[in-house]
Amino acid sequence: MAYTAGVDIGNSSTEVALLRTSADGTHEFVASALYRTTGLKGTKKNVPGVVNAISRAADSAGIDVDEIDRVLLNEAAPVIGDVAMETITETVITESTMIGHDPSTPGGVGLGQGTSVEITADRADHDPDEPVVVLVPETVDFAVAAGLVNDWVDEGYDVAGAIVQRDDAVLIHNRIDVEIPIVDEVSELDKIPRGQPTAVEVAPQATGKSIDELSNPYGIATVFDLSPEETQKIIPVARALVGNKSAVVIKTPSGDVEERTIPAGKLHIINERGSTAEVPVDEGADVIMETVMDNWPVADVQGESGSNIGGMLNRARASMAEVTGQAVDSIEIRDIVAVDTLIPQEVEGSVAGEFSMESAVALAAMVKTQQLPMQQIADGIESELDTEVIIQGVEANMAVLGSLTTPGTDVPVAILDMGGGSTDAAYMNTDKDIDSIHLSGAGDMVTMLIDSELGLDDRDLAEAVKKFPSAKVQTLFSIREEDGTVDFLDDPVDPSLFGRTVLLEDDGGMRPVPVSKSPEEIRRIRRRAKRRVFVKNAERALNLITPTESIRQIPFVVMVGRSSLDFEIPEMISDALAEYGIVCGRANVRGEMGPRNAVATGLVLSHIGGGSYLDFELPAELSTSLERTPAKTN
Ligand code: ADP
Ligand code: MG
Repeated sequence: MAYTAGVDIGNSSTEVALLRTSADGTHEFVASALYRTTGLKGTKKNVPGVVNAISRAADSAGIDVDEIDRVLLNEAAPVIGDVAMETITETVITESTMIGHDPSTPGGVGLGQGTSVEITADRADHDPDEPVVVLVPETVDFAVAAGLVNDWVDEGYDVAGAIVQRDDAVLIHNRIDVEIPIVDEVSELDKIPRGQPTAVEVAPQATGKSIDELSNPYGIATVFDLSPEETQKIIPVARALVGNKSAVVIKTPSGDVEERTIPAGKLHIINERGSTAEVPVDEGADVIMETVMDNWPVADVQGESGSNIGGMLNRARASMAEVTGQAVDSIEIRDIVAVDTLIPQEVEGSVAGEFSMESAVALAAMVKTQQLPMQQIADGIESELDTEVIIQGVEANMAVLGSLTTPGTDVPVAILDMGGGSTDAAYMNTDKDIDSIHLSGAGDMVTMLIDSELGLDDRDLAEAVKKFPSAKVQTLFSIREEDGTVDFLDDPVDPSLFGRTVLLEDDGGMRPVPVSKSPEEIRRIRRRAKRRVFVKNAERALNLITPTESIRQIPFVVMVGRSSLDFEIPEMISDALAEYGIVCGRANVRGEMGPRNAVATGLVLSHIGGGSYLDFELPAELSTSLERTPAKTN
């Protein structure tokens, strides 16, 4: 009996396929295993992860690791992916205009408008016919403030709203004789101009609704009687207030809120013919991607130093140089993918830390080097496990072999390997020749987009938002799903989840998402991120991989990699490709593994010449292991 382990070291995960060969020469896969890749893919740091994954496979096959006769490694594609974000607009409030914010417990309800007046001011200075919005500084106790509001009202003044520095809105609201909207926790109350037209809005509390006048440019225009030109200018204000439960807007004489474009640096895209195209990052994703595709194949991309994107490209280049021991300037960036996005940013000059959704460009880059030091990894595994380690084949080719064990597939076939750092594609024609391509942008980019668009600042949570549908806990016994259907539960949910937006995890668990977004909004953001990265890349990959033929002539497209485990990505890609008449589906490697384990399985098949798993003869270059000269060690 002999045991052979195929090991695929990916950017994110290390996968193993374990084969048993009996004395009579029959082969059988007896186990598979997965462990997260330790260290940067293609470096010696991968060894512990590999050893761990192999041990797991041995465990589940019920054998000792010592019984494994040989380990097959893939020649990992010498590419790594990295992601970055560049903000390209900023909302700036100059002078004293204030835009409102969203305290957790405002008071009252409705829209109030009037002139801003300090609550302790001398009433005689004020015209009783003009409504007022009173300002309550932190030095005034809530009971005193409530008494003063009642005094203003008793003397015939029209108090239309209140802005409070401390978290006292509810306390004041409970003690006054008028029903007015009250916004509190305005930390920098002293910055609010006195004697100016002011509007305060609080949405009805119980309904979960948000404000609807001050988040609408025409609502603000109505309140302040603005001209069309002035209305144009307050659009960023309205946009910043969308979704708020309460808000304040004050009109100052110079009324200065503006949206500025930040110079975000330029990308230099150098093609293989040696010419360079220049794109300013702030022109947005479409222009960047058009330039990339017009200059395909790309030889290198450089970013202006000082910008985030330039920094990211240099970082990726430097880490690759370190891994391979090559000079930084010999490392090339062979692909970038850009996506337009919006990210919440603190408004410059705001009074209480307001946020505005600013435009940004997200970028993923694919860095390429000559060769990864695979031999060093092989040597490391050999000394840990005391077994023969062979570098068996090229990652993309092995992925094709593994994918072809999916029932119902045949050549010609295209595979899409959707991982964490890259979207790889390969095409095998009827002569069994394989072409492959590595594109930047995959699961990690989707996670980054979700993280920033929802303002989570928590990669782990963003990863969960990507993988699971969301819902709103309506009562202790019912949830409303993203599509509006209501589910009744047998057991009550944890009371702390009441009213919250949660993720419905695979194991039946509910995980709260700490943002004030409805399940519908989360779904929209999540699906848009997936579409912009994966549908776009599937189309790019298939078009590039079939240079002479039309994409329509590919009969089969098989999706592998763990991003194809996603509950909606495969369907989105299938829908998009159906327009070209292509049959596209998720792999079922060896008829049982789903889209997992394709490369690891391919390595084993390549070593045994296909066995009974492939119904065609493997060409020599796919069935012989790679001769490698040991990598230079320093
Ligand atoms: P690699 O080959 O580069 O190591 P993988 O094939 O392991 O990559 O894919 C890693 C990516 O798959 C990550 O972006 C991860 O978020 C994503 N992923 C893993 N499991 C799931 C899942 N159940 N649903 C959606 N995405 C998933
Ligand atoms: Mg992979």
